[in-house]
Amino acid sequence: MRPELSEYTPIYSGKVRELYEIDAEHLLLVASDRISAYDYILDTTIPDKGRVLTAMSVFFFDALGVPNHLAGPADDPRIPEAVLGRALVTRRLDMVPVECVARGYLTGSGLKEYRANGEVCGVPLPAGLVDGSRIDPPIFTPATKAAVGDHDENVSFERVAQDVGLELATQLRELTLDVYARGADIARERGIILADTKFEFGRSSDGDLLLGDEVLTPDSSRYWDGELYSPGSALPSFDKQIVRDWLTEESGWSTAAGTPPPPLPADVVERTRARYIEAYERISGLSFADWPGAAA
Ligand code: ATP
Ligand code: MG
Repeated sequence: MRPELSEYTPIYSGKVRELYEIDAEHLLLVASDRISAYDYILDTTIPDKGRVLTAMSVFFFDALGVPNHLAGPADDPRIPEAVLGRALVTRRLDMVPVECVARGYLTGSGLKEYRANGEVCGVPLPAGLVDGSRIDPPIFTPATKAAVGDHDENVSFERVAQDVGLELATQLRELTLDVYARGADIARERGIILADTKFEFGRSSDGDLLLGDEVLTPDSSRYWDGELYSPGSALPSFDKQIVRDWLTEESGWSTAAGTPPPPLPADVVERTRARYIEAYERISGLSFADWPGAAA
């Protein structure tokens, strides 16, 4: 008999995920089907998104070969039936308060900074780069976690070193760039570009530095379809473009409206759901039908 979710103490509720305490050493990390776009959490959920992202995270934790926080399989008996497939048992870590971002392509907040001063997080880049330009070698562009509702703030390596010490900062930079390179290679083999991604690391009770949180999911990463790649204009997001296009081109809503976006129609939900499954199956080479948990 699996436990009920109500038997665990909730300890944190993020925008799309929830954290529960299993015991002093273990947490249950639960992904919901919520989706964000243009900085709003939409009223409409995408069925199976939580399971797909969990499957993708597990695929990469396995494939990366880097010490991580997973403390049991996807069908671990400590996982309640109600969240089976979208929850993971992890070791409880003391999280390092740094969002460890790696960028192999210039876009988003990195592009904005580059246009202002030719650098990203204090890393100077060559002149003449455009939206989507490749950054070779990839760069470490850390950020500090903002309070709920605020954007994370990009910071320099020196600032991270001040906050957590030079030794740990150096370790984080090396690990981040190494894990990004491995993830990008795996995606590239499947025709998908990993433009940038964010990792979180933490210390276990034995003092080991482990890769935590979710890894290389579409929520923590920017994926582009390699076939559509052409730098110079904003590149379509592999997972969210269907939602974004509908919101800005068909729904009558605009980002300038200052009001939350409208609910998504059923066909947009269905196409987005299929897109997430496609991303997982293409990158992992595995079938989502084999993943635990009930189809939503
Ligand atoms: P968002 O990621 O949407 O900006 P958020 O970070 O507040 O918001 P989540 O990512 O949903 O929300 O929350 C997950 C939380 O769990 C984060 O604070 C993350 O640092 C923390 N976390 C992840 N893995 C572990 C772990 N093994 N031990 C302790 N905390 C963890
Ligand atoms: Mg987070």
